[in-house]
Amino acid sequence: MFNFQGVSMHRWNSLFGALVLVMLSSIGAPASALAQQYDLLIRGGRLIDPKNGIDGLRDIAINQGKVARVAEHMPDSEAKRVVDASGLIVTPGLIDIHAHVFYGADAGAYLSGGTSAVAPDGFTFRVGVTTVVDVGGAGWRNFEQFKTQVIDHSQTRVLSMLNIVGSGMKGAALEQDLADMNAELTAKCARQYPGLIVGVKVAHYAGPEWDPVDRAVEAGRIAGVPIMIDFGGHTPPLSLQDLLLQHLRPGDIFTHVYAHVRGRIPIVDDQDQVCPYAFEARKRGVIFDVGHGGGSFLFRQAIPALRQGFPPDTISTDLHTGSMNAGMKDMLNVMSKFLNLGMALPEIIEKSTWKPAQVIHRIDLGHLSEGAPADLAIFRVREGSFGFVDTAPGKMLGKMKLECELTLREGKVAWDTNGISYPRWEDVPPRN
Ligand SMILES: [Zn+2]
Repeated sequence: MFNFQGVSMHRWNSLFGALVLVMLSSIGAPASALAQQYDLLIRGGRLIDPKNGIDGLRDIAINQGKVARVAEHMPDSEAKRVVDASGLIVTPGLIDIHAHVFYGADAGAYLSGGTSAVAPDGFTFRVGVTTVVDVGGAGWRNFEQFKTQVIDHSQTRVLSMLNIVGSGMKGAALEQDLADMNAELTAKCARQYPGLIVGVKVAHYAGPEWDPVDRAVEAGRIAGVPIMIDFGGHTPPLSLQDLLLQHLRPGDIFTHVYAHVRGRIPIVDDQDQVCPYAFEARKRGVIFDVGHGGGSFLFRQAIPALRQGFPPDTISTDLHTGSMNAGMKDMLNVMSKFLNLGMALPEIIEKSTWKPAQVIHRIDLGHLSEGAPADLAIFRVREGSFGFVDTAPGKMLGKMKLECELTLREGKVAWDTNGISYPRWEDVPPRN
């Protein structure tokens, strides 16, 4: 018996048999080619598509990279390839609006062409993410480098929020340079790439001035895009109330919502109460984003906030080499935390698909309407005993975990954990 890493093929077969409910392909199917009007049919899954108000069993047909039809039942014979999603969750491809993917080998360049950022394709599809927004890696000076180096070479849909600092997120002194924060030039660059540059980012500024925030808002106003702010690092801290109620506009994004870091007032005070102006800001339309990261997600903040009716608007990772190897790990791990904190799955999916699409003004994404790009993910909810680590770091125990089975990017299989989209090897014709 052939052995692979100590596991017999027989064992693998039975393991796959148990994991993969049904696996079908059109190979050997009796239907005529003419009847096969769709490239792919995903059938029998629980479709959660918040934009369209769908949470129920649906079949989805895909043709030429787009969603062709969503219906309660379509015959297998209409498709060239069939994926059985029985017992699984089918959703729009996830949109992570806080990631750092401007990777490169520039010495000391941190998240702007440096080694702390990650290559998107290595970390997205395996967890159902089809779109990431790099927030602040590039500024107007080096966006072209980011585009040619990363965006144009990635299968993942990579969007950008330009740093208000012209040279981007290169760390240390460069991010403190007020002279390199130019609203007009930032907006000009953003307007050259509508839909690709979807916002302006402010981060890491430690001085006592409001200029970086206000210049980012000005750039956002000129370019017609939201800004995202990573607030903090000020000594003494600047007023969070002023930021949320006076400086940010409706639609602007406050990331790291459940952080408690030196130099920033947390949204949950030391009496475990969510500050009233956070509710007021939400009413004004300010968006509260998770941005978990390596130091910005505390259960001590998130749990009281959720109990008091202050969930995040959008769920995101703040993906970089530090966070992915610590408590954050990946998008599904962050979503699983909210699942175990009692948030309903459809709500978690909405905050990871349709809501972020709206926040970045890309309403063509984040849903599976007929005609939409077939960016899609299939998940399983695993039950068992799991541990989830925050950035304190401390651990929360949980009983559920989301796992990705399959990811499609514009109709193409970009990830398939257990081969549910493939025929059995015995049914593949020999090469000759
Ligand atoms: Zn970040």
